[in-house]
Amino acid sequence: MIPYSTQLIEEDDIAAVVEILKSSHLTQGAKVEEFEEAIARYVGARYCVTFNSATSALLGAYAVVELKENDEIITTPISFVATSNMAIALGAKPVFCDIKMDGNIDESLIESLITPQTRALVPVDFAGKPVAMEAINAIAKDHNLLVIEDASHALGSGIGNQKIGSLADMTVFSFHAIKPITTGEGGAVVTNDEAFAQKLKLFRSHGIIKKQLWNSDMVSLGHNFRLTEFAAALGLSQLHKLDHFLSTRNKIARYYDERFAGHKLFTTITIDSGEQSARHLYPLLLSPALHCAKEDIFAELQSRGLGVQVHYKPIYQNSFYKERFGEQRLANTEHFYKSELSIPCHQKMSMENARIVADTVLDVMEKYAYRGCSF
Ligand SMILES: *Cc1c(COP(=O)(O)O)cnc(C)c1O
Repeated sequence: MIPYSTQLIEEDDIAAVVEILKSSHLTQGAKVEEFEEAIARYVGARYCVTFNSATSALLGAYAVVELKENDEIITTPISFVATSNMAIALGAKPVFCDIKMDGNIDESLIESLITPQTRALVPVDFAGKPVAMEAINAIAKDHNLLVIEDASHALGSGIGNQKIGSLADMTVFSFHAIKPITTGEGGAVVTNDEAFAQKLKLFRSHGIIKKQLWNSDMVSLGHNFRLTEFAAALGLSQLHKLDHFLSTRNKIARYYDERFAGHKLFTTITIDSGEQSARHLYPLLLSPALHCAKEDIFAELQSRGLGVQVHYKPIYQNSFYKERFGEQRLANTEHFYKSELSIPCHQKMSMENARIVADTVLDVMEKYAYRGCSF
């Protein structure tokens, strides 16, 4: 089975982890700081604060802007649930904005959703494709809102010569096993704001500041959301390879773009010129004629060795959300969910793998082409 995404761990990654395992500090040593400095430098942000997941990093970002009961964030339903879950964890309400057919939040609809309770805009760079940050930042500025970007798919993505991570008030990355680079589990917030960075560090580690000798002081409520030293060592080793990973993913994606260009039964998502995508996912969008065959197509691709997946069931369709916030339907989001299918695209694949994936996709699509859906 070729998974839709997976990690690539090599001997030097393993050696970096083993070195830490043999050292004196498994946690709270120098590697985490070294990894944080390297991430900050790579994305062009002043500060990076790592966490043990992107989920805890999101909670940290929401906590340090003091998101609270009755506050609202405007975000996308086409994301992993953690993006909005962590706002709910603080009592806030996620307001879902419809998307464009590239999977990203439709920035032209954001302003109509702003209320006196709105505190932050939380876009997600779907599949690695950058959201329209210039427009989103302009809206935020006009309405005095914060922008917290969930860039869990987008480490290495960029707009022009600016990397994702340098454009929002805070940007969150994930180092989960299948994300652009991995620490097993892990995440980070990057920011140019020193006060946010300091508060994030307190939130991550019990709210304790060190004083002299044995004395310390707990100044705010915190957690233990720290990354280990061996995870940071793995992250640092992986970060050195990120540009290589990106070039492999982009090479595969460009090959798919060519193989699938002009197809009648499905489309792909174009990355605009002047933008770079980490290509965390390679989504296909089935034409309506294939929507009713999607389950069969999914099952057949899986049985033929392609670990396809669907990203995502709209967050508001989950039982918890329906019970708490009521039924919701956003037109493009619903259409996107019916259309989307992510096919394998990752740094462990060869071009021969990519050829097999493309051949199989084309073959299976043709097979279901004439079944037809009744409208
Ligand atoms: C993976 C992911 C998360 C959660 O990341 P973890 O590191 O697994 O906690 C959050 N948001 C998005 C968009 C993701 O893809």
